[in-house]
Amino acid sequence: MGGSEEAYVQEAFDTNWVAPLGPNVNQFEQAIADYVNEGVHVAALSSGTAAIHLALQLLGVSRGDEVLCQSFTFSASANPILYLGATPVFVDSEQDTWNLSPEILEKAILDRMANGKKPKAIVAVHLYGMPYKTDEISRIAENYGIPIVEDSAEALGSAVSGQKCGSFGDIGIFSFNGNKIITTSGGGALLSKSENVKKKAVFLATQARDDAPHYQHSSIGYNYRMSNVLAGIGRGQMEVLDDRVTARRKNHNFYQSHLGQLPEIEFLKEPDGFYSNRWLTCVLTPSFEYREKLRLALLDQNIESRPLWKPMHLQPIFKKYPSYSDGTSEKLFDRGLCLPSGSNLSQNDLERIVEIILKNQ
Ligand SMILES: *Cc1c(COP(=O)(O)O)cnc(C)c1O
Repeated sequence: MGGSEEAYVQEAFDTNWVAPLGPNVNQFEQAIADYVNEGVHVAALSSGTAAIHLALQLLGVSRGDEVLCQSFTFSASANPILYLGATPVFVDSEQDTWNLSPEILEKAILDRMANGKKPKAIVAVHLYGMPYKTDEISRIAENYGIPIVEDSAEALGSAVSGQKCGSFGDIGIFSFNGNKIITTSGGGALLSKSENVKKKAVFLATQARDDAPHYQHSSIGYNYRMSNVLAGIGRGQMEVLDDRVTARRKNHNFYQSHLGQLPEIEFLKEPDGFYSNRWLTCVLTPSFEYREKLRLALLDQNIESRPLWKPMHLQPIFKKYPSYSDGTSEKLFDRGLCLPSGSNLSQNDLERIVEIILKNQ
């Protein structure tokens, strides 16, 4: 926590706004909108997954549709496609950002169209805080008239050419889950340049209650709004977001400067104009065996590191769905490692980690 979270939570108690609406929710939304800029309207929700679910629904995804989805991601990017009865079509990553490959994306669109079905949406992810190739992906999406859900769950604070992540897609989403760069313990947000889209998101997130004195419903709603208590945590966290990004980037720079000279350890560079919040520092090693040697050496010293996300097209629950892959994300999964990356790591922690890695060459 940063410091002022408790005061905002206390405010919710003092004013008895202990409900999924209230001043903290409004102020938290405003703080996010101010931070991202670009004229976005923000709806605070109960999770990032809920935000993706509503985003897809608001873009018109329904039963029987196909949705293109980055394969190299966390399962929450893909699950809402299934909630809506649609079919995910997984697309592999490219080397520079580890995110959606523009070439494979375009190939997949053309192939789905040749099969008689134009995909209804694209779920593009800024994984580990590194932005996807926003220019190229947006250009392709526009060419074919397919809207983008920008999964920015891991990329609050990241930017391309000064434009903040969350503002690139037709609808953007953030997560404030406990493991993200800032947290409300659990929470999320949906962002759109259209105020009407925000209003519709809030309507669906509050059980789709029609404008009437009694309870009347003409559509199916959800209970997806953020609690005013948790939004108090969010308000306090927004005040330290820049500090958190600085701390994460400092971790990355420390690892890079102490391990970057090793030929076996490859870091993900920021392409020109890209700014990553470095939510996690991840490295690519020459082999599965080498990666495991490092991971187990760290574990032996009670230090947890983790393999990169297992691609969705290789997951037991998702492998029956169509996918377009050139082996990039499978290679990343086999050989990549997420190093300890918390914004509370001490200098001593970092030195210990580096020392163990250097000793295990
Ligand atoms: C965390 C995460 C989500 C889901 O957010 P929740 O708030 O946990 O529901 C979605 N996509 C990615 C890439 C994530 O890392």
